[in-house]
Amino acid sequence: MARYTGPDCKLCRRERQKLYLKGTRCEGPKCAIEKRPYPPGEHGRGRIRESEYLLQLREKQKARRIYGVLEKQFRNYYEEASRYRGRTGEALLVFLERRLDNVVYRGALARSRDEARQVVRHRHVLVNGRVVNIPSYLVKAGDVITIKEKSRDIQAVLGALEIIGTKTIPGWLSTDQSKLQITVLDTPERSQIDTPVQEQLIVELYSK
Ligand code: SF4
Repeated sequence: MARYTGPDCKLCRRERQKLYLKGTRCEGPKCAIEKRPYPPGEHGRGRIRESEYLLQLREKQKARRIYGVLEKQFRNYYEEASRYRGRTGEALLVFLERRLDNVVYRGALARSRDEARQVVRHRHVLVNGRVVNIPSYLVKAGDVITIKEKSRDIQAVLGALEIIGTKTIPGWLSTDQSKLQITVLDTPERSQIDTPVQEQLIVELYSK
């Protein structure tokens, strides 16, 4: 499946804020946005005219980049969300949160969504006892996600366990560290999603 393979830090600089794409590095002094808090490129430090369209576009790009989703798939989530009763923007974020790679990251079994995606794709993750290697797989309430017995000492998981105490697990998930197991307690609500995105701007962009 296609995915962005360019430099992650450039994405943060483009959005002028930390998107936390590189795990523990994002918290340290090596974070690129601490050193160069302006967009990349020749005109990065120039003045930008902030039009309404630009704000909407940036918000959409930010959400895509945080969750590591390409345009086409993001648009598909939006189309699906727009068929839901209630707020489209909220439904969109709920879809993104329910992705298996996001859940492995949120449940603290990986240090970043990129790492979580790799753990899933390399067949280290079980959902309800069966291997699922599709990062976009949507979990639902009651699902139990575990790391395969044979995969418990891989670097990504060991690294995540080192910092598990520093992470806040959202209320719709429960992680049992000793079993390397995440239980999905509920469908997430907007108030439980701390992604710094104004989803209404994305809806406005796509509704044009
Ligand atoms: Fe973004 Fe992390 Fe890179 Fe900092 S270190 S710019 S937060 S990806």
